[in-house]
Amino acid sequence: MLKIYSEETGGSAAHDHERIVHAEDVECGYRAIIAVHSTALGPALGGTRLWNYASLEDARTDALRLARGMTYKNALAGLPFGGGKSVLVGDAREIDRERVFRAHGRAVESLGGSYITAEDVNTSPADMEIMLRETRYVAGLIGRSGDPSPVTARGVFRAIQASAKYRWGSDSLAGRAVALQGCGHVGHHLARELAAAGARLLITDVDEAKARRVAGELGARYVEPAEIYDAPAEVFAPCALGGVVNDETLPRFKFEIVAGAANNQLLEARHGDALQARGVTYAPDYVANAGGVINGTIELLGWTPERARAKVEAIYDTLLEIFRAAAATGITPARAADELAEARIEAARGARTSATD
Ligand code: NAD
Repeated sequence: MLKIYSEETGGSAAHDHERIVHAEDVECGYRAIIAVHSTALGPALGGTRLWNYASLEDARTDALRLARGMTYKNALAGLPFGGGKSVLVGDAREIDRERVFRAHGRAVESLGGSYITAEDVNTSPADMEIMLRETRYVAGLIGRSGDPSPVTARGVFRAIQASAKYRWGSDSLAGRAVALQGCGHVGHHLARELAAAGARLLITDVDEAKARRVAGELGARYVEPAEIYDAPAEVFAPCALGGVVNDETLPRFKFEIVAGAANNQLLEARHGDALQARGVTYAPDYVANAGGVINGTIELLGWTPERARAKVEAIYDTLLEIFRAAAATGITPARAADELAEARIEAARGARTSATD
């Protein structure tokens, strides 16, 4: 039997989330936490992650952190969505997907449209199709908005161009050396865009054969994974894992710009300060990699691909605004991005309050 209950969130100093829902069906091994961080700008949008968390507390912490991140990402992408996230606790190789995703669909439906989900780590369009039998509030379905990776890559490319413009006064990447970490879905498309723009690429991947293949295709230089942080390049584009800007890697950087697709590139917030102290221009990850969520508007809002594309191109302008605001007030771009997002959320809350006055 499916059991759903909400945590008491009102007035708690521990978090600023609107709603935290726990859902479980012990018979099929379904255990989920759905965090709705904010609906100020619209229904909370954020994927469903499946992960074998060590504890329920770890799962809850992750859900809260990821939901909050989605609020900021959607706000800065200029989308009419708030932020939320679901996490399912379980082993991706062992769960009964049919039963688990049907249960999750019912849990999402119980939120009445205040939360819309899609695929994320360890979940797929096929899983979303299962959920569709229980709820309308699901995106990322088979054959709809399609693979977001090329669109994400385009947004990251625009982020690198904006960083170059801010840093060097020109957004031309011709002759600039870019160290690219991860030749996966996004990294490969990004490498192609960069090569077409005349950048000199140094690329790596833990899958050496894949990296060498991409290097061969684009005339790039292959670098060992452990050596990418020492690469003699002006731009570092992390497109693999989070946490790659940390105490161990930072002292090795010769880069002037860090701009990539990976989520949570800074291991801790203080690494944003450390980048600034070293004079590195950092394009906040959630601004640079918003192309994927923007791509979802085609499916969720019926936007044309051209309209979505224009929003992705605008990542360039948003970033320049962030860099200038950061420089004017002496804060990091990461902090300036958060403040810009918060201002947009507050403005939406204000508009809503005055509409109901
Ligand atoms: P992917 O799994 O297709 O590619 C990741 C690549 O990184 C793989 O080729 C993998 O072998 C490689 N890799 C893993 N660890 C590495 C390491 N230590 N050193 C070098 N290479 C390593 O994933 P993706 O869809 O291309 O996404 C890349 C990153 O961008 C992820 O952090 C993801 O969360 C983020 N992101 C992706 C999208 C999207 O549209 N796909 C949107 C927003 C953010």
